[in-house]
Amino acid sequence: MLNREAINLDRIKRRVKIVCTLGPASKSAEIIEAMLRAGMDIARFNLAHGTLAEHSRVIAEVRQLSQKLRLTTGILVDLPGLKRGYGSMREVFGEHLRFAQLQDATFIALSFISSAEQVVEVKELLRERRADIPVVVKIEQAQALEQIDAILEVCEGIMVARGDLGMQIKIEKVPLAQKQLVKKANHLGKPAIVATEMLESMVESPTPTRAEATDVANAVLDGTDALMLSEETAIGKYPIQAPETMGRIALEAEAALPYEQILREKWQDVVPEINDATARAACQIAYQVGARAIVAFTMGGTTPLRVSKYRPRQPIIGVTPSENVLHRLSLAWGVLPVKMPESLSLEEIFEQARDIVMTTSLARTGDLIIITAGLPLAVPGSTNLVKVHRV
Ligand code: PGA
Ligand code: MN
Repeated sequence: MLNREAINLDRIKRRVKIVCTLGPASKSAEIIEAMLRAGMDIARFNLAHGTLAEHSRVIAEVRQLSQKLRLTTGILVDLPGLKRGYGSMREVFGEHLRFAQLQDATFIALSFISSAEQVVEVKELLRERRADIPVVVKIEQAQALEQIDAILEVCEGIMVARGDLGMQIKIEKVPLAQKQLVKKANHLGKPAIVATEMLESMVESPTPTRAEATDVANAVLDGTDALMLSEETAIGKYPIQAPETMGRIALEAEAALPYEQILREKWQDVVPEINDATARAACQIAYQVGARAIVAFTMGGTTPLRVSKYRPRQPIIGVTPSENVLHRLSLAWGVLPVKMPESLSLEEIFEQARDIVMTTSLARTGDLIIITAGLPLAVPGSTNLVKVHRV
């Protein structure tokens, strides 16, 4: 039986995730703890700044405090690469890849990528090292923007890196590039992060400008999975207020998302795969019967991401026995990650799902929830079951 203490209930309401860059302004335990409480879902470590020893210390601090607060916090290690990058991917990223692997990073981000081939090369290096780490490609080169379809095929997620992108393409092209990138990532169900200067004035001021608040809300309405803070939390004066403010703006914008229309339009995003079809059916049924939550059991992590792709109005609970998968779900729009021992039977799955929705107060006795899982139970990628369950 799950106890209430085992899940941090504050995280259920907001669907968009918040990435905070840690730096000199956010390296103490007190500040990190307050940032976690304020809504940080993923801590980003930008290896372009600071020493590896210092990053390593702060990563350990984030992990320890997250555990204390019963939060699942992703660790994103951002590799600087080369601004005018030639050279082999081994030279450019090798040492930093080693660091990310040693730190057991949840995700790595690759800077200044200009082609899908480069991403494939990095993935080969990871395979060589037996490092199974999802790759987020930063779109900040004009060539990357041009090759976005090929890049999206080979990575696990993208970052709309508006800072450098805005220097590579005309500034007036940036807003539409953002919309196009988010839309393409959404189409494939791969997470997108909108980054840079979102609440820039909060580096100096306790409140953002109206324009910044509007920028955050618009990114949510564009469909982004996550929003990122850079200098605001790394070197700013208000590293706690920034994620807190961002969360409030996101929450308000999400309430205006046209869920029914999105679900209808997502028809264009279906692919002929069993897990995609199952995820979409789960969302469709949840909408039609007014279910309170969608509980997605997963071994490899794809099922909650596929459910997330269809942007249901209901909270998605991603349940997994794997610590790695649990942390990867920190980036998935609308997903609350919950760790549970592996289920041995379908009855146990239904029991666990009931337990979670009751513990989180998402449902009451008599309510409907949707459960998705795969048979056989222990095999990753086998999601093929949708159960409409009355709790
Ligand atoms: P950076 O990347 O913060 O590592 O420069 C983001 C951006 O360029 O927007
Ligand atoms: Mn950049």
